[in-house]
Amino acid sequence: MNIPREQRQQPGWHVDGNGLAGAMSDIFGRDITDAMGVCNFCGNRAAVAEVPAYNAGPGVVLRCAECDTILMRWATTPISTWLEMPGLRSLEIAMQP
Ligand SMILES: [Zn+2]
Repeated sequence: MNIPREQRQQPGWHVDGNGLAGAMSDIFGRDITDAMGVCNFCGNRAAVAEVPAYNAGPGVVLRCAECDTILMRWATTPISTWLEMPGLRSLEIAMQP
């Protein structure tokens, strides 16, 4: 289902990346909300915590706040997690001390 961008940007349709910190920690093994991603389409650079995240469907979608490109999406089943990062040029995850 393709919901128009204007509708998805209304309150209640999304959370920011901070709202999915726990789910992302399960995938990456640590908190990545401070990781910096670069959109492959428009070049916008933003922290994962700041990007709109949509989790009302069977999976989760993170989109670029500037151009709406799908940066990252994942779905978890009882036996595995499927992760795609089709719109991320890079994801900089700082080393932890
Ligand atoms: Zn973008």
